[in-house]
Amino acid sequence: IPGQKVVLITGCSSGIGLRIAVMLAKDEQKRYHVIATMRDLKRKDKLVEAAGDAYGKTLSLAVLDVCSDESVKQCIDGIKDRHVDILINNAGIGLVGPLESIPIEEMKKVFETNFFGVIRMIKEVMPDMKKRRGGHIIVVSSVMGLQGVVFNDVYAASKFAMEGFCESLAVQLLNLSMIEPGPVHTEFEAKMIQDVRQKEYPGADPDTIHYFKNVYLPSSVDIFEVLGQTPDDIARCTKKVIE
Ligand code: NDP
Repeated sequence: IPGQKVVLITGCSSGIGLRIAVMLAKDEQKRYHVIATMRDLKRKDKLVEAAGDAYGKTLSLAVLDVCSDESVKQCIDGIKDRHVDILINNAGIGLVGPLESIPIEEMKKVFETNFFGVIRMIKEVMPDMKKRRGGHIIVVSSVMGLQGVVFNDVYAASKFAMEGFCESLAVQLLNLSMIEPGPVHTEFEAKMIQDVRQKEYPGADPDTIHYFKNVYLPSSVDIFEVLGQTPDDIARCTKKVIE
């Protein structure tokens, strides 16, 4: 539809990405065409159900694994003129535990997803955005991108790295915003809590991961700290940011 903005969102099979996709696709003024992506379409049912009538109209699905160069390229190639107005980098994974017990390979996976995954996406959409001198890139970071938290060393580092990358990139690509949620009730959070509880790390307080301190860093990038705890709180904030 003319005038509609193409919004590509990563990691829409659950949690925050799913709710952002649904909220934008159900926009009353139909301002967005949402390309909701996920790495495995077998996980699409929750999204399709939540999208209701919007599915097939203002919301379409595509396969995308942010860890694969090929998958990212294929997905963007599949979009008309490779034209994305708004890219929402939401896909991410967590990793909790004492450093000694975590294999390096698992740590690399966190960086591959949370850091290089975002870079891969931005690299693919940036040429078109630069050419058109438009576009908006949103990155779902975390308060852990600003403040380290015990047993989240590598996850926090991946988000810190992305914050640095985005701050530098914002100099070239002016329209870049970061969303920094505190704890949000999603599969991600449930897994973190379960990991801490199940492994019974000596000296660990299971509620440790809730000790978030909200900090504000002056920055050249717009930073939106989100204090809500439901995926809808984050989706509402994201919608405000792009409006
Ligand atoms: P969920 O686990 O509910 O959702 C994460 C999504 O990312 C899933 O759709 C998952 O897909 C997808 N994903 C994982 N790896 C890849 C990949 N390689 N390629 C494409 N998609 C992938 O978590 P949340 O909704 O909570 O997390 C979303 C974002 O919010 C993350 O970046 C996270 O770091 C951030 N965040 C979350 C907080 C929280 O407390 N929940 C707090 C602060 C930030 P699949 O179904 O295939 O696994």
